[in-house]
Amino acid sequence: MDTFVYMDYHATTPVDPRVMEAMLPYFTERFGNPASRQHRQGWVAGEAVERARASVARTIGAAAREVVFTSGATEANNLALKGMSATLQKRGDHIITVRTEHNSVLDVCRKLEKNGFRVTYLDVDGDGLVDPGDVAGAITGKTILVSVMLANNEIGTLQPVGEIGAICRSRGVAFHTDATQAVGKIPVDVGSLQVDLLAMSAHKVYGPKGVGFLYIRRTGSRLAPVSQIDGGGHEGGLRSGTLNVPGIVGCARALELAAAEMEAEGLRLSGWRDEMLRAWETSPGDVRLNGHPTRRLPNNLNVSFPGVEDNLLMMNMKDVAVSTGSACSSSKPEPSHVLSALGLPRGVAGSAIRFGLGRFTTEEEVRYVTGRVAEEVMRLRELRGMKGAGARNRKISRTPSTTTTR
Ligand code: PMP
Repeated sequence: MDTFVYMDYHATTPVDPRVMEAMLPYFTERFGNPASRQHRQGWVAGEAVERARASVARTIGAAAREVVFTSGATEANNLALKGMSATLQKRGDHIITVRTEHNSVLDVCRKLEKNGFRVTYLDVDGDGLVDPGDVAGAITGKTILVSVMLANNEIGTLQPVGEIGAICRSRGVAFHTDATQAVGKIPVDVGSLQVDLLAMSAHKVYGPKGVGFLYIRRTGSRLAPVSQIDGGGHEGGLRSGTLNVPGIVGCARALELAAAEMEAEGLRLSGWRDEMLRAWETSPGDVRLNGHPTRRLPNNLNVSFPGVEDNLLMMNMKDVAVSTGSACSSSKPEPSHVLSALGLPRGVAGSAIRFGLGRFTTEEEVRYVTGRVAEEVMRLRELRGMKGAGARNRKISRTPSTTTTR
């Protein structure tokens, strides 16, 4: 049987046919440049972009004028962090973030350090959670910006962004969240999260690649990041360059669909996800859940099979697309910075596999992957001569003693 199951929905998702349908006219008959204000083609494209902006804003509880379209979340994170630190540099030089952030935040922070800013990288506990008290404790009179992601792309852990937002607002510090993995999967409202900036990317929610946005709070705030791409003054001067009209239309349609289907989809995927883990606890046994057991994305399952090297397991399951960590760093042999930050023993971190379920996952696929993984893990453990291969009814080895709490 020529089976291939895609279970790497955190890396990217296929474009939903309904999104594709919405985008298509903007490649052909409605191909105008929204910056062309003198003719109908330009107006039609411009109206489509403004409709999309209003729609995207609605899904996160923002106003249309607070949304700046970008090429994705990497660019949105760059604009938020580089742009806001440039805006606020007269006030201070200190930035706070977390060790488990995506590289599009961490690499920017490292570059900012080279340019004279000081960055505090907060630790997380064994489940990947940052303590809001640690954020409060790290804020000084020189702190200008805090950046904490909403949902982790590897372990799915949901950070207490609302609590951190309240702390930042009361201390007058700008707060950015990378919500790339969260929007469309869990309810996201910029008001209750008390964020000033929020990054998002369409290709994580069945929209096209190469488009996303940065939310910038304008209500009660006059602060805006310094633009990082200059040119024709598009997007209110914050991000120049001819707009990706089909992409923007697709981004909005993708988010509308995600909002409408979020609840049912979340229940379906988390149900299957939990069944997979329960099945593996029985066979092959000795499986460890990485990330928080309940405060996590509904479609995320990150587990370690101690004694089975992650890459070996993946290589032996070419019929199943999964990941050993973040796709952006999957070529690196050492455990990802996220798993390392959890304080996992090397054997556990080195055997971690991320399963990302998604809209087009079927029950049949879930059953297939559950069986394939169990079979391969047992086979590889047997090859290593490990005792307990195929052990029945063994309890999940998720003892606090194997994790560190900062
Ligand atoms: N942040 C997170 C949490 C992500 O998962 C990703 C995608 N891997 C990004 C940022 C970067 O998004 P993009 O691919 O749109 O640049």
